[in-house]
Amino acid sequence: MTKITYPVNPGGGNLKGIRGQILTYKADPFLNNEEECYDYLPDGLIVIRDGHILDVDNYNDIIGRYPGLVDIDTYTDALVMPGFIDCHVHYVQSPMLGSFGDTLLNWLNQYTFPTESKFRDKAFADEVAKIFFRQLLEQGTTTANVFSTTFAESVDAFFEESERYDTRMITGKVLQDRNLPDSLKDESAEESVILSENLLKKWHHRGRQLYAVIPRFAPTSTPEQLSLAGDLYQRYIDDGVYMHTHLDEAESEIEWVRQLFPQQSNYTEVYKHFGLVGKRSVMAHCCLVEEAEWQILHDCGCGVAHCPSSNLFLGDGEFRYWEAKEQSRPVRFGIGTDVGGGTNFSIPRQLGEAYKVAMMKARSLDAVRSFYLATRGGAETLRLENTIGSIAPGYEADLAVIDLAPTEYASWRMKYTGDIFEKLFVLMTLGLDNMNKATYVAGRKVYDRSRDKKHMYAAEIDG
Ligand SMILES: [Zn+2]
Repeated sequence: MTKITYPVNPGGGNLKGIRGQILTYKADPFLNNEEECYDYLPDGLIVIRDGHILDVDNYNDIIGRYPGLVDIDTYTDALVMPGFIDCHVHYVQSPMLGSFGDTLLNWLNQYTFPTESKFRDKAFADEVAKIFFRQLLEQGTTTANVFSTTFAESVDAFFEESERYDTRMITGKVLQDRNLPDSLKDESAEESVILSENLLKKWHHRGRQLYAVIPRFAPTSTPEQLSLAGDLYQRYIDDGVYMHTHLDEAESEIEWVRQLFPQQSNYTEVYKHFGLVGKRSVMAHCCLVEEAEWQILHDCGCGVAHCPSSNLFLGDGEFRYWEAKEQSRPVRFGIGTDVGGGTNFSIPRQLGEAYKVAMMKARSLDAVRSFYLATRGGAETLRLENTIGSIAPGYEADLAVIDLAPTEYASWRMKYTGDIFEKLFVLMTLGLDNMNKATYVAGRKVYDRSRDKKHMYAAEIDG
């Protein structure tokens, strides 16, 4: 194990520095002048103490302020950004990514439900959680809003692994008590929500872990379960608990919801009726959204997860960012991989797909907006924009280090680019799998592409 000792500075605590090109966002470029939404430092220094960012500025302007700072990781040909934020992903579907597709509902029956049924087995859940975290950190993702599945074992396995890295993660037990196989179905609405609350009490705010109430989607919960889930969410919403579900992904799904809940005028109204719509509600997909629904999502302050590779893989619908960001009623949204409906764990690769999804409707997403969505936009979607997603004093020190010359071709191609956003657009379009050099979580380098032991838990780094 590596023992790292930091020099003590006059203000107390151990200082750590990271030097390189730095990009961070401070506002939403869909709603403001793009140039005013970010800071780019060609030679910057981030000063970290106790897992938080203490300071950030141009290297030459800042280094003199910290005479005790000698432990500095310096990156050349790389861009330090806030760690990426995945607003919607099913860790329990890691074993089935790349299953031959079909319609959403057939795909669920054929692949998803049998896979998730295996998570009763804690050892299996542990194995999947381990591989999932390794993929995320390798890609520079430091926070994710995650679906587990029915069983407490699937939640415990996930949070236990998250604690080992000290990552800020969100998950919870999935509530589902009808229209799916018995092997995955909750036995009773009441017991399922009690189990969810017990897990909430066990994990919410334990270290950096955060809990979500997760009805899979309206068709797989009885009205009774949705109602109890809404009660649970409302009781804990002001303590930072989330509600996470799917909304308006595919025509067949929306039609099914209409049949099951004929009293409600649209799908969003179904969730609203049961108390599931609020400021910490995150809705995945939202491809086929009526204007009245956008208005509810705006009025209630909900977040939305755009999952472009899943849109393309399942072929169900395409997210329309210009509808979400309509100036008169903008809705917060970030990017989700939606593994296993999505096809990889990389947020930059999702950005390349998001560009194509928008272009199918003759709209284009530039790199300024795209990398905002990957970082601060995701944090805003999760209501964590004062905690993560930016590089600024007081923020948690979760960082990705993007390689600006990851392959021979990319390195050569960069000769024909101009500013940093031209370079980032090339990288998100190439969608390479090895673009991330290193990942820092709460100031610790938990992933380093060039280290013998690439992934390290927090305790291994602390000695
Ligand atoms: Zn999903």
